[in-house]
Amino acid sequence: MTQPTTISQLITNPSCMDDYDPNSMPVAKARQFIKQFLSPVMETEHLSIRESLGRVLAADILSPSNVPNYDNSAMDGYAFNADDINLEKSTALKVIGTAFAGKAFDGEVKPDECVRIMTGGMMPRGTDTVIVQERVTLTGDQINFSEAPKRKMNVRYAGEDLQQGQMVLGTGHMIRAADLGLIASLGIGKVSVYRKLKVAFFSTGDELASVGEPLNTGQVYDSNRYTLYGMLSRLGVEIIDLGAIADDAELLESTLLKAAEQADVVITSGGVSVGEADYMKLLLAKHGQVVFWKIAMKPGRPLAYGKVQGSKIKAAHYFGLPGNPVAVMVTFYQFVREAMLMLMGQASPAPLPIFNVVCTENIKKQTGRTEYQRGILFTDTDGVWKVKPTGAQGSAILSSMSLANCFIVLNESIGNLEAGTIVQVQVLDGIV
Ligand code: AMP
Ligand code: MG
Repeated sequence: MTQPTTISQLITNPSCMDDYDPNSMPVAKARQFIKQFLSPVMETEHLSIRESLGRVLAADILSPSNVPNYDNSAMDGYAFNADDINLEKSTALKVIGTAFAGKAFDGEVKPDECVRIMTGGMMPRGTDTVIVQERVTLTGDQINFSEAPKRKMNVRYAGEDLQQGQMVLGTGHMIRAADLGLIASLGIGKVSVYRKLKVAFFSTGDELASVGEPLNTGQVYDSNRYTLYGMLSRLGVEIIDLGAIADDAELLESTLLKAAEQADVVITSGGVSVGEADYMKLLLAKHGQVVFWKIAMKPGRPLAYGKVQGSKIKAAHYFGLPGNPVAVMVTFYQFVREAMLMLMGQASPAPLPIFNVVCTENIKKQTGRTEYQRGILFTDTDGVWKVKPTGAQGSAILSSMSLANCFIVLNESIGNLEAGTIVQVQVLDGIV
């Protein structure tokens, strides 16, 4: 297969790819096509550690020193030299002082001597081993023990976590809670990250009413802008909400251009399926290069991807998501999320993990398309994690997404399934 190198090749010359069918585009292939056109933001900024949470590193972080910085005790006990261990009889050592964390014992420890040491305390000169306090008997200023620890036991060595000059976090890494602490542990106060990605979005449809307005006959409240707001917020991008726009060519055009001018990415929902008043398609053809796919998936069959020219010099990536509320979320997680992470500066974002679990109910499924059914992972009476579908799986039933804690991912070859079958799930909840 010849890979298209431009979006216009995808639109105008599908024949350059043997197995390219825009009307039945497998999920994985669409994802692959999108990937090759993504150019990440380049501008960087210097932020304090806390501000960098959720941002993507624009430069490697190297360790300026060894971590830990000095040999120290991993336990409360006594530090001594392992050469003093007497294998024939009980070892007896004289306690000559104390080493606290942050307050070192300054002297030299000679043969047959030891130092009381606290966790984190610096290993005194002349010692290499720590015996925990519970293993010794203390009589006056002397300790005795018969069970000898191995040399170097209970000691944390300088550089055992990180060596000076070692790469700690690489360019493209998204900073999470542990990283904030890790960076702080190096004494580094500011980091270089890519600027926030700007994402503009709007809903399309004559039938949409906005929250706070009365609902007239034939109208539905615009919910997509709210789910999109939530999903984009979790990704840590800058959000530009351009509202719900009626199916009106002029309004749609001005909003689309405003979006492409202001943002790196434009997302719309609705108006990209067959049979729609074709305004969006015409506008996207006029102002950009956009491919329209029918993805072999459910929910989320129609999907548009490309670039929109906001001005002569400013183009934005464009994602045209379906209108149905569940389809918006599914296509976001299956296509947009990964693309956003790449645009934010992650070279190869980790895919959402997939696990195999037993499904406790029958599943209805058509072959030939990937289905993302909404599921609930739960601990069964036998203590094992299993999954069951949330119930009705219509693309408009948004309550199924609220109920769900996972997608049950059923690939193209799978048909109806009996209860007890092992299925793949993608977990929606994360702890970091
Ligand atoms: P469309 O893709 O525009 O044909 O829309 C498909 C279905 O999704 C229709 O039933 C729409 O009413 C519904 N829909 C479209 N946009 C929204 C929205 N922003 N909020 C809730 N439902 C929507
Ligand atoms: Mg519509």
